[in-house]
Amino acid sequence: MNDTVIDKIWAFGFNEGDGKDKKLLGGKGANLCEMTQLGLNVPPGFVITTEACLDYLDSDDDALPSDLMDQVRQQMQEVESLTGKKFGDPEDPLLVSVRSGSAMSMPGMMDTILNLGLNSETLQGEIRQTGDERFGYDSYRRFIQLFGKVALDIDDEEFDKEFDAVKEKANVSEDVGLSADNLKEISERFLHVVSEQTGRPFPEDPYEQLEIAVKAVFNSWMGKRAVDYRREFHITPDMAHGTAVNICTMVFGNRGDDSATGVAFTRNPGTGENKLFGEYLINAQGEDVVAGIRTPKPIDKLAGEMPEMARQLEELRQKLEEHYCEVQDFEFTIERGTLYCLQTRNGKMNAVAMVRTSVEMEQEKLIDKKQALLRIEPDLLEQMLYPRLDPEAQAVSLAQGLPASPGAATGIAVFDADRAEVRGKSGERVILLREETKPEDIHGFFASQGILTSRGGKTSHAAVVARGMGKPCVAGAEGIEVDVNLRIASVGDTTIHEGDMITLDGSTGKVYLGEVATIEAEVTAELSILLKWADEIARLTVMANADTALDGRDALKYGARGIGLCRTERMFNDPSRLPVVIEMIVAETLEERQVALEKLLPMQRSDFKELFEVMSPYPVTIRLLDPPIHEFLPSENQLVRELEQLKQLKQTVVGMDVLVGTMSLLVDPLATNDEAEPVHSLADAHMVEEAISKKESMLKKVRSLYETNPMLGHRGVRLGITFPEIYSMQIRAILEAAAECEKKGIEVHPKIKVPQVCTAQELLSVKRLVDDIKAELKERLGQTPGFQFGTMIEVVRSCMRADSLAEEAEFFSFGTNDLTQATFSFSREDAENKFLPMYNESGILQDNPFEVLDEKGVGKLMALAVDWGKKTRPDLLVGICGEHGGHPASINFCHNIGLDYISCSAPRVPVARLAAAQAALSGEE
Ligand code: ADP
Ligand code: MG
Ligand code: MG
Repeated sequence: MNDTVIDKIWAFGFNEGDGKDKKLLGGKGANLCEMTQLGLNVPPGFVITTEACLDYLDSDDDALPSDLMDQVRQQMQEVESLTGKKFGDPEDPLLVSVRSGSAMSMPGMMDTILNLGLNSETLQGEIRQTGDERFGYDSYRRFIQLFGKVALDIDDEEFDKEFDAVKEKANVSEDVGLSADNLKEISERFLHVVSEQTGRPFPEDPYEQLEIAVKAVFNSWMGKRAVDYRREFHITPDMAHGTAVNICTMVFGNRGDDSATGVAFTRNPGTGENKLFGEYLINAQGEDVVAGIRTPKPIDKLAGEMPEMARQLEELRQKLEEHYCEVQDFEFTIERGTLYCLQTRNGKMNAVAMVRTSVEMEQEKLIDKKQALLRIEPDLLEQMLYPRLDPEAQAVSLAQGLPASPGAATGIAVFDADRAEVRGKSGERVILLREETKPEDIHGFFASQGILTSRGGKTSHAAVVARGMGKPCVAGAEGIEVDVNLRIASVGDTTIHEGDMITLDGSTGKVYLGEVATIEAEVTAELSILLKWADEIARLTVMANADTALDGRDALKYGARGIGLCRTERMFNDPSRLPVVIEMIVAETLEERQVALEKLLPMQRSDFKELFEVMSPYPVTIRLLDPPIHEFLPSENQLVRELEQLKQLKQTVVGMDVLVGTMSLLVDPLATNDEAEPVHSLADAHMVEEAISKKESMLKKVRSLYETNPMLGHRGVRLGITFPEIYSMQIRAILEAAAECEKKGIEVHPKIKVPQVCTAQELLSVKRLVDDIKAELKERLGQTPGFQFGTMIEVVRSCMRADSLAEEAEFFSFGTNDLTQATFSFSREDAENKFLPMYNESGILQDNPFEVLDEKGVGKLMALAVDWGKKTRPDLLVGICGEHGGHPASINFCHNIGLDYISCSAPRVPVARLAAAQAALSGEE
């Protein structure tokens, strides 16, 4: 295959590559080109394309494209002429870094090799040129280790062992304390490690080094870490396919006290504050800052140490933002008073910072409202609604680290990623506690509530990854001594064992022993502004699913414009009502049932009234009783067990009064509580007898209600038709509540929604109940409240009959949970527990359709139903109230097929509002 490709360009100089083509050049490469061409001070270099990577990975014989290395040599010559140095020159050698970078940023997923081009000869040239032996060996040992690890697959520990041995021998604690001789010895030991581990000497030829390194970077694309990362973050080949390789002239932050290296954000990624944020280390090279080996200094300090560099850095910050119109996360190195920019990318920020920068950059005219809305991933907003530590909790902190990623988290301390994964999967809340984290710990992050490290700064691996995931993180809590082998950590006299509960606050950097109370987050001023913009642009109205007045208040706080789904069964389940509900269910005759319903009516009426009052003037959509009624009764097993107990009791009673120790069953024969409190009361045989007979009749009822397939059984409108008195009671409660509100001058818009409808006849029978009650109210009160009558669309047949349903229904509400079950013929629990994960892993189904709306199947049915429904009734209102209603991708789909509203759980409302605006904006283009 390689030979057939002629004249393909595999490598582009930083001064020629297209800075917009991230797909071809990777994000890092494209930006290096862009910055070079903008005139920023980027060390000369070139990018080997992702196409070359794919070509290489496709080849059977592990060969690079045939002319790739020729092109690399040509590009190298270009770099040589720009730098005035020669690759492999024993006098004044050009050294380069070899860096990966794909279209999607995958921080730390692949390693970078620094100082490539060093060998025993060029090393001496480098030392002569710089006159700095220490620096020469420092660079050399770094190169051997990185090359050994990344390109030759040697375990880091092999090197660390030698490094620590020399450090100990020399009796120094920090790397900077090592002398030239120490570093020389380390280099020699490292060379030895390489030949030991690979069975060959370390490669001396710089071009051989380069070729091995390029292949290693290409191979890392298919490495486990990278593959896991892509799977976890749903990075598909059309988002990023293959990695590019960036070859970049080395610049040295480890050339002494006038040199430094650092990373910075153009604005604070934790708060959004418009001020340079970052860290640096004097006399250090690249990875040192990120690796958490030394704790870096905050960027504010630079002005004191190197005022001119601080000024230039500020200038760089301005230029980057003006050009990219986005917060940048960049790397810089200062070599003997010259500032270089080594990388830039859009900054990953938490939700608070994203929202604040969106609003402020709009005000600064850097971006417009549309851009301000589009740059935020809607799901991110949920983070802002995360709990924080209750300031009233008055907990005394155990240790202080850096506030590296905000939010509070509680969980058991676990000392390594594998265990964190195991315990997290078993349902425990876990805090990953490490000295520092590495990319291979990524699965531990996924499983944890929060991350705590004892070393490293705010730009350490732990901090960056945690922020990206929106998980709280405290980094560099130096007071904590971690002993991974013993699985303990100590802070002064306190010892934290694995499994001990700890709490951390990623906003303050404090760590606490035990669980500390947390409180809900508030909607910030900036978020309100942003969401106001969103509402102006969105076509979809966002409502909430809320069952009680309390939920309704929450929904309003998050900006819901009404309730799209109120489930009446939640009110039935209230402990004070359940006995009456059960009474209604076990009733043998219509009269008996009416008695129970009459008790329920005022309860429902007052519930609805309260809800209407809270939600006024927004609509409240109430769904009539939906679940199969046996759900309100105790299970058959429980009843059998209780009957046995009662029968035993009967034998001990034998006619006389006894003191009963455990039998609440006697006091309240309808009690459903499995763990009944011991009740002491006098009982006689007669009472026991009566209790037994009641239990027996309930058991009979439960058995008679038994269904093989309750989800497809006697529920929804089917109940309303067989027991019209139940629906009548509910309809009456709704309309009477509305009438009472109207009388008090409160604006109400009730909507009555019928579940599980599959034919127009069903809807018509419920409509008749509504009409009867309406007529009766009219007669009694002289007027009836306004309301709408509509149907759930959650049965396949209802989609197919949408045209005729729309004759009775003034609105449709898609129940996509049930509709998904029905469309796939999957019962959700069984699917998720048994085969869906396997379906997803093997690619038979891309996503879990209960989480991500299946647009091709379920969505197709929805689109048809919308079209047909609106044909019959052009002003038909159509919405969705399933769980999918809160998911941005599904919201986009709902927008596209012409829905009018979406309804989701209250905390998803901000997410949905932003997603609705984005759907409208992307439709514009
Ligand atoms: P990552 O994607 O992990 O950040 P990079 O390729 O950006 O990997 O490099 C790792 C570290 O090495 C960074 O701190 C970077 O600034 C530094 N680095 C990379 N190339 C050079 C270079 N040519 N000169 C000096 N430092 C470099
Ligand atoms: Mg790295
Ligand atoms: Mg980098």
